[in-house]
Amino acid sequence: MLSYCHGLTNHLIYQMNVIAIISIWFTIWTGLGLLFFFKAIRANWREPVFHHPILIFESDDWGPGPTEHADALNKLSKTLSGYHDKSGQHPCFTLALQLTAPDPKQPLTTSGNQLNRIDLSHPDQAPVLSAINAGVADKTFSLHLHGLEHFRAETLLEHANQKEGIFHWLTSRAETESLPPMLQTRWNPIAHHDQTRQARVDTKSAYDEAKLFEKIFSHPAQVAVPPCFVWNPNVEQGWQKAGISVVVTPGCRFDQRRDDGTLSRVSGAIHTGDLSPTGLLYLVRDRYFEPYLGHTAEDGLHALSEKTAQGRPTLLETHRANFIRSAEHNQHALEHLKIILTEAQKKWPELRFTNTWNLAQAIRTGDPQWICFDTIRRIRIWWHRMESVPRWRKWLLVSGWWLVSRLMKEKI
Ligand SMILES: [Zn+2]
Repeated sequence: MLSYCHGLTNHLIYQMNVIAIISIWFTIWTGLGLLFFFKAIRANWREPVFHHPILIFESDDWGPGPTEHADALNKLSKTLSGYHDKSGQHPCFTLALQLTAPDPKQPLTTSGNQLNRIDLSHPDQAPVLSAINAGVADKTFSLHLHGLEHFRAETLLEHANQKEGIFHWLTSRAETESLPPMLQTRWNPIAHHDQTRQARVDTKSAYDEAKLFEKIFSHPAQVAVPPCFVWNPNVEQGWQKAGISVVVTPGCRFDQRRDDGTLSRVSGAIHTGDLSPTGLLYLVRDRYFEPYLGHTAEDGLHALSEKTAQGRPTLLETHRANFIRSAEHNQHALEHLKIILTEAQKKWPELRFTNTWNLAQAIRTGDPQWICFDTIRRIRIWWHRMESVPRWRKWLLVSGWWLVSRLMKEKI
């Protein structure tokens, strides 16, 4: 009897030790997880969850160009106007515009150290401007500010004086897409410049270009897309002063593009709905539809599927290069665009088309027609979002939360 009691006590002690070890393990790993993933947990929870699948095509680099560009824009708008969602809204291509180009007749001033520019309101650009405005009137286009131009003029001119190729580019009506990558950046810092003065110059330049947008289109620019996603807080200040309140980001901020073309990241993860220190609303666009680079309709649909499962809008980045390179490229891109639109509406009949500005307004106002406030759905979506956070799955397994998550999934 005594030895039976002794055995029972040992068994109980053993069980209690196991429970204690599991509890300590679970507590330590939970604490470590909270510390390590705190920012991601909070950001993914705060980020708005959308009721419906949302699709927007964000198309960059449009600006002054030959009449063929106007033809490409007209074709694109006509294609988009053949579709609409349940509310009657056409799919929208946002056009991120570079407002000027070097004057092809005389790109440099007589002293040779400044650019002569023509902007979209120049009489030669009437066909392009008219095609843009027609698309806006048809609600197939919505306009964003990309920049005065797709480069920093001082840097470009410096290179033009040293390299034959860049000088030739200035005098040959070539597209900015053909410039070396490091020259395609509008807000790259200029080495050896007085930083305080540079900050003032950036703020003023950003303000001036937003005001030029307003002068050309008779309404203020509201959304900015920084070229190559390189920008800085001084630029934001100028934009904000001129009326811009939304910035499209790739999910982080870069402050320069190095000579080898790589980008220098200076921020943590940016989430849709985050506010910049100057109060601008950030949106995230990190999926691509570039048929000239080999992207297909299937890639676009896959992005839509993934973003929808995460309760996020799908902002598909694309460039004018897809539509202006040649008639074949144009046709190829339009065919894939039609497949995306047709298949997406079949798969998600509740799919919504809108433009980036309206999306930002829905976020700012917490519009319940767009944003979901149901706690159970938000938890589900939050959990799904966390699964794409690097090392989260490993932590779930090691900490034991994987088991808890399985039980939670069955309950909610
Ligand atoms: Zn661009």
